[in-house]
Amino acid sequence: MPVDMSTLLLMFPVVALSMALAILIVALGRWNDDGLAHWGSSLLMLALAFPLFVVHGHMVGLSPLLVVFGNVLLAGSYALALVAVCLFFCRPRPSWRALAPVGLAAAGSAVFIEQADVRVALGGVLFGVQGGMVVHEVLRRSNGVLERGRMLLAIGAAMVAVLYLQRSVGVMLGWREVAQWQTPHWIQVGSHLLGLAGLIFTTLGFVLMGKERADAEHQKLAQLDALTGVPNRRALMESLDRVLAQAVREQRPVALMMVDIDHFKRVNDSYGHLAGDAVLAAVAACLKGGLRAQDALGRYGGEEFLIVLPATDAPGAARLAEHLRQAIEKMVVLWAGQEIRVTISLGVHARVPAGQVQASTLIDTADQAMYAAKRAGRNRVEIQALSLPPGAPIAVD
Ligand code: GH3
Ligand code: MG
Ligand code: MG
Repeated sequence: MPVDMSTLLLMFPVVALSMALAILIVALGRWNDDGLAHWGSSLLMLALAFPLFVVHGHMVGLSPLLVVFGNVLLAGSYALALVAVCLFFCRPRPSWRALAPVGLAAAGSAVFIEQADVRVALGGVLFGVQGGMVVHEVLRRSNGVLERGRMLLAIGAAMVAVLYLQRSVGVMLGWREVAQWQTPHWIQVGSHLLGLAGLIFTTLGFVLMGKERADAEHQKLAQLDALTGVPNRRALMESLDRVLAQAVREQRPVALMMVDIDHFKRVNDSYGHLAGDAVLAAVAACLKGGLRAQDALGRYGGEEFLIVLPATDAPGAARLAEHLRQAIEKMVVLWAGQEIRVTISLGVHARVPAGQVQASTLIDTADQAMYAAKRAGRNRVEIQALSLPPGAPIAVD
């Protein structure tokens, strides 16, 4: 056998310890946050457990104690990994699923201290089941999307579980080269390398899950306006492009609504900028509350909002615009014991877009309609597509 088994066995704790230290340094002070500190501690226990099994053969007097302690550390390590996954997904900490295997490992290895085969077989089943519990916890998620980090962790944990179960079955069938990990046999070399790969897969998977979640959160935040919580201009433009492309394909109308708060400067001047911020947020929430699920609202500029209405013709958009206008007119924002009321002017443009239509053309037209509403006295709706004379009242159901 060209591979030195002692060196191979040493690689496991060295890799586990290096990753444990790296993770614990990063996770310092974040014990309950995202499971990272628990994952690092799990690796640390794993790194401590393996040398015990290696030396127990050489220290006859201490051997039984080392075996019990080693098995408890292994079970504890996989229990902590399970806790880490639960913490990461903000699920309740597992109690008996984490503690029972540790108790079983202690009791089993103490009772069968003289029967190595039984111990290895039982340990294999126990640790295999623990690996399986980690796989189950990682895959158990409602939205059905399997991100790559999660997939990597599940594959790594499954590899570790299969290794333990294979060792257990091996010893039950009397295959010594499968059961005893110091045996210089290609099956053992393969199984150690697979175990090492499993260790790296699980840890990289866990770390990548955190990165993927942070990336998704940043991406979501980058699309939202921080003050009002509605999509920002960039995200809204993306929605508009999608809606326009679909409208062109299906030859259905699309409507745009430009909304501007009337005399908003006065709100800032009278009540202060913070009150203005609160009014902006309230207007956004009120507008959003009046829209349908398929409609997209975004903050277009300072106190201007743009609303994209798929599959909506001019009369439909006009009715919705008037409904929104009335809702804002009735809205009262309480600020420092004072009631602040505002109105909005809305410019609506609706059309069945042709292939070459630019989003900016539609926005410009809705904007012009909004300025027409301002010129006509504010707190009103102007519709471009219907070519209403400025100031003409809108028929509302
Ligand atoms: P009009 O009826 O013609 O629209 O009058 P207006 O006062 O609303 O219009 P104008 O464009 O002159 O003023 C808009 C004001 O909105 C000016 C700016 O200070 C304020 N504004 C823009 N963004 C914010 C914001 O994020 N917070 C607050 N508090 N004010 C903002
Ligand atoms: Mg304004
Ligand atoms: Mg404005």
